[in-house]
Amino acid sequence: MNLELSEEQDAVRRLAEDFVAREIAPHVVEWDRAESVDKSIVKKLGALGFLGLTIPEEYGGSGGDHLAYCLVTEELGRGDSSVRGIVSVSLGLVAKTIASWGSDEQKQRWLPQLTAGEAIGCFGLTEPGTGSDAGNLTTRAVRDGDDYVINGSKMFITNGTWADVVLLFARTNDTPGHRGISAFLVPADAPGLSRRTVHGKLGLRGQATAELVLEDVRVPASTLMGPEGKGFSIAMSALAKGRMSVAAGCVGIAQAALDAAVRYAGEREQFGKSIASYQLVQELISDISVDVDAARMLTWRVADLIDRGQDFATAASTAKLFASEAAVRAANNALQVFGGYGYIDEYPVGKLVRDARVMTLYEGTSQIQKLIIGRALTGVSAF
Ligand SMILES: Cc1cc2nc3c(=O)[nH]c(=O)nc-3n(C[C@H](O)[C@H](O)[C@H](O)COP(=O)(O)OP(=O)(O)OC[C@H]3O[C@@H](n4cnc5c(N)ncnc54)[C@H](O)[C@@H]3O)c2cc1C
Repeated sequence: MNLELSEEQDAVRRLAEDFVAREIAPHVVEWDRAESVDKSIVKKLGALGFLGLTIPEEYGGSGGDHLAYCLVTEELGRGDSSVRGIVSVSLGLVAKTIASWGSDEQKQRWLPQLTAGEAIGCFGLTEPGTGSDAGNLTTRAVRDGDDYVINGSKMFITNGTWADVVLLFARTNDTPGHRGISAFLVPADAPGLSRRTVHGKLGLRGQATAELVLEDVRVPASTLMGPEGKGFSIAMSALAKGRMSVAAGCVGIAQAALDAAVRYAGEREQFGKSIASYQLVQELISDISVDVDAARMLTWRVADLIDRGQDFATAASTAKLFASEAAVRAANNALQVFGGYGYIDEYPVGKLVRDARVMTLYEGTSQIQKLIIGRALTGVSAF
C-alpha cells in the first residue's frame, strides 16, 4: 500500500478542505444551536461531486477511488459530523448500494438525482425493538398483485425527514431471522409513510434524524431491490462499506480535536507560562496525535482493500471500532486541554465530544464490531 496520495487524491482532499472552510466552518455553531444544518448544503455537496464519489459516471457519479472518498469524508468530519453524515448515508449507504444491487431502471431513476444532490437517500434498517439484532426486524411487506403493502416503523433514521427515497428493509416471509428480509426503494412521499423528527440528541444536532411510520404503504413490485429474501445480505454489505466512511469521519473528528488542542495550548498561559510547556498537557496532545495516526492508517487500509477487490469486512469493523473509540478519547482529551472553556459551545471541542459519542453506537456498536472480528478470527458466530 502506497501511503503517498496521488495528485488526484490530493486535489480532491484540498477541494474538500476549502469547501469546509468556506461553506461549513462559519455556520457550525449556529447549525448546532438551531438543531438544523442549512439544507442548501446538499446541492453544494452534489455540485462538487462529493455525493457521486466511486459511482460510475454513466449514472452521474464522479468516479474516484475509495481513498478519495475517505479523504473527503475525513475533511467533512473535521468540519461538521452532521454534514459528513449526510454524505455517508445518502452516498455511502444508499447510492452505493443501488449501484451494486439495483436494477438498471432503479439506477436510472435514483442515481443521477442522488449524486447531484437533487435527491437525498436514507437507510431504514433499525426499528424501535431491533437495533443490534436487525435480523429480527418486524416491518412487513406483503405481496398484493403487482404491489407490496408495507406496515411497520423505523427508528433513528439519518436524513429521515429530508429524504426522497428510503432504502427500506422489511420482512417478506415468515422464515424466522434474517432470511425473510427484503430490500425496497420506497419513495418518501408514498401515501401512508409519515416521518417524525427525533429531537434532543446529545450530538449530531444539526442532522435530520427521524422515526418513520409505514401504514399500508403500497409500492409497485418494481421497488424491490435485489432478489426477495436477500435484504439482510444487502444491508450487511452496505454497512461493511459504511463502516469505512464512519471511521473516516472519526479521523476527521480526532484531527479537529488535535488542531484545536495544539492551537489553544499555544495561546493559553497559566502560572506565567504557555500551558503547552507543561508535560502533562503535552501528554494529552501526544495521545490525541497517536489516535489520529492509527485511526487514519486503519481506515486507509480498508479503502486500499476495497480498491484492490480484496475482502475488507473485518478490516472495516476493525477500523470502525478503533477510530470511533479513538475519536471519543481524542475529543475528550482536547476538552481537557481547553479546561473550563472546553465546556461551552463558543469553543469547538465540546461539540466534538458530543458528535464523537454516537460513533461507537451506530452502524454496529463497539460490542457488535468485537463480535464480528471475533467471529472472523475463530469461525464461531455469537449471533
Ligand atoms: C444518531 C443516530 C443515527 C442513526 N442512524 C441510523 C440510520 O440512518 N439507519 C438505521 O437503520 N439506523 C440508524 N441508527 C441506529 C443505530 O444503528 C442503532 O442505534 C444501533 O445499531 C444500536 O441499536 P440500539 O440502539 O437498538 O441498541 P441495542 O441493540 O439495544 O444495544 C444496547 C446495548 O446492548 C449491547 N448489545 C446488544 N446486543 C449485544 C450482543 N449480542 N453482545 C454484546 N452486547 C450487545 C450493545 O452493544 C449496546 O451497548 C442511528 C442511531 C443514532 C443514535
